[in-house]
Amino acid sequence: MNQITDYTKYNKIAVMGGTFNPIHTGHLVAAEAVRQQLGIERVIFVPSGKPPHKESDPMLTEHRYLMTVLATVTNPHFEVSRIEVDRTGLTYTVDTITELKRRCREDCRIYFITGADAISEILKWKEPERLLSMCEFVAVTRPGYNSSELKKTVNSLNESYRGRITLLEIPALSISSTDIRHRVLSGQTIKYLVPSPVEEYILKFGLYSPDFNSIPEADAINARLHSVLTPKRYKHTQGVAEEAAKLAKRYGADIRKAYTAGLLHDCAKCFTDGEKLKLCKVYGVKLDDVLKAQPDLTHSFLGAKIAEAEYGIRDKDILNAIAYHTTGRENMSLLEKIVFIADLIEPNRDYFKGLDKIRKLAYNNIDDAVISALERTIEYNRERKRVIHPLGLAALKYLKEGKNEQH
Ligand code: ATP
Ligand code: MG
Repeated sequence: MNQITDYTKYNKIAVMGGTFNPIHTGHLVAAEAVRQQLGIERVIFVPSGKPPHKESDPMLTEHRYLMTVLATVTNPHFEVSRIEVDRTGLTYTVDTITELKRRCREDCRIYFITGADAISEILKWKEPERLLSMCEFVAVTRPGYNSSELKKTVNSLNESYRGRITLLEIPALSISSTDIRHRVLSGQTIKYLVPSPVEEYILKFGLYSPDFNSIPEADAINARLHSVLTPKRYKHTQGVAEEAAKLAKRYGADIRKAYTAGLLHDCAKCFTDGEKLKLCKVYGVKLDDVLKAQPDLTHSFLGAKIAEAEYGIRDKDILNAIAYHTTGRENMSLLEKIVFIADLIEPNRDYFKGLDKIRKLAYNNIDDAVISALERTIEYNRERKRVIHPLGLAALKYLKEGKNEQH
């Protein structure tokens, strides 16, 4: 919640939760109508962090928050909270309300505002009973959602939850964030559908435009990596990115993609083995016997998932280059080979037997470099009696067979 606001002075507070991607006039009209009709003193807009039920682009989180501030700043009764955007992991309303309640007087009434579409979902949220014991709900009408259905839903919820839900008729505005995004994408106007500072903001940053889904800026990636990697790992990461960019230039691959994949290849490296295994479960990385026996090997597969979910990478080739940078695999793309090799030869790498040879081969013939690197890795792991991941063996076989066919 807002660190400056003293919530103990209020008798009635409302929370307006949403993805706000972007915030629009429908949200503002709903919040203002509820405020006036129920005599609420403060409406707290809470842009969601990583909601469990919705896909949201992590690179947009800060934009969503700032647009919500821009849209609400002229209303003295409105404020915006960072509580969910700053929370790591999945965010749940019940946790947000618990935190708010802690800062309010015992007898303060807390309301949670939802549109007709969201109210029918609340029983699927985390701990709905505890949530409904801490706050009341206000369900507002929304065009496109049947109001007699809404009445039925509210009545049945009220039977189980002692009248904790209020139904409120509000001015109908047929606006949704989905529609706003489509309009921007297809070049239609969004004037008056969002407050004008929000419109200007969207245009300034090119949000939702056709090329917005491009690769995030290296600065944004680095800022985050800096906080999750050890200094040594961070330095290695910078070295791999630069080496990958050089190799990309040499072989005519996309330099920006190579640089980005290099930056992110170890983004999951600095978790403990226990954390890695837990995160594999969260992100759905399947664990085979080799990965179970050597949890550190999961960092590349997990890294790809985290690069997608936390760093906003959409490009499949970049994600695969991260996923296979340790094991390799059959039929690797050029970008995959580049990142695989850059990881081994970047200038900060501690010396190992065969490094000079791989460095030389890297700029001469990338396939030969990958073969040499795989052979060395396999030998190194055999000496240490470690099981070799089958993906690496398959990669080597594939490349060697390809070489034989060429000759
Ligand atoms: P999306 O299309 O991305 O789902 P949205 O327009 O539904 O976006 P959300 O951020 O999902 O916006 O909505 C936050 C809350 O505001 C929800 O409870 C939703 O039901 C409500 N809401 C959104 N738009 C309206 C509207 N035009 N009228 C009434 N309630 C609305
Ligand atoms: Mg919605």
